[in-house]
Amino acid sequence: MRCSIDLDRRGKHEGCVQLNHSNNRHAYGVIPLPIGVIAGDTGPTVLLTAGNHGDEYEGIVILQRLFHDLDPDQVRGRIIFMPSLNLPAVREYQRTSPLDGANMNRVFGDPALSGPTREIAGFVEETLIPQADFAIDLHSGGKICEFSPCGFIYGIGDKERLQNKIRAAHHFGARYTAVVEGSQGSFSAAGERAGIVMLSAELGGGRIQRENIEIGYTGTANTLAGWGLLNHPPQDTKTTFLRSGFAGSSVMSPVAGAFEPLTSVGQAVKTGEAVGRIHSLDALDQPPVTVCVESAGIVLGQRAQAHVLRGDFLLHLGEEVEESQLLEPVS
Ligand SMILES: [Zn+2]
Repeated sequence: MRCSIDLDRRGKHEGCVQLNHSNNRHAYGVIPLPIGVIAGDTGPTVLLTAGNHGDEYEGIVILQRLFHDLDPDQVRGRIIFMPSLNLPAVREYQRTSPLDGANMNRVFGDPALSGPTREIAGFVEETLIPQADFAIDLHSGGKICEFSPCGFIYGIGDKERLQNKIRAAHHFGARYTAVVEGSQGSFSAAGERAGIVMLSAELGGGRIQRENIEIGYTGTANTLAGWGLLNHPPQDTKTTFLRSGFAGSSVMSPVAGAFEPLTSVGQAVKTGEAVGRIHSLDALDQPPVTVCVESAGIVLGQRAQAHVLRGDFLLHLGEEVEESQLLEPVS
């Protein structure tokens, strides 16, 4: 893949990374993935990305704004922007790529895979990450899910890197930060393999909400300040860490129908509490099925679409975890 701009040149530049794709539209077709760089005085390199999943536009809005708002004379070091990472999916407003059906956040690090989505992930992992000290990959729940706006870190790696991720999550400053084990094929896993400090975020979903854009924008800018990239110190912000993946933390629909949520994201629920009702779509003699949670927790994410099939995701819960516990070795 060819990048049209010199990422080492000082100043503010934008261009594209060319993804060659031959199809019915053009035998020698090129999909130009937007890329920008703002480089000032000597300092670290940060990679800012969004559009890893093509229906998560919050991060695109945030990075477009940030690229246009920042000037090189405010920057110490270099910020590389790729706001529509999986552009083929972004153009179609789809989570996965229309070109090969791949979920970009599952194709990092596996050279046995091929296709356009893998090619973009390979460019990020082999060309951009080796130049970076830090990275932020902005996500949201897309069309299907709404997250309580939160930071997202992998609770793995050596103690120093983990501490750096915890510090970055505080600077990002969302009310909550989810701490997960993660999946091997993700961008974050690629960052872990390279030893860079990597932060993700889930900035709502369902529809773009102004307050989530503000959380993501100020959070990204403050994290940049915390990493020494801006010519001012960071604000002293705090987050609460939530762990997910415990028994009962994922709630699925027991039947098909119309999902009526009884909770909002960010809300605390008790064990046994009713969190939703599923109504029949085609019969009046079927009473609604009430869905209750098996564990207490904070509603981290909730289905944004009403239509559900049996087994569809309804809710994700997180449970509060002390910062000191995050640094304890996993037994
Ligand atoms: Zn995503």
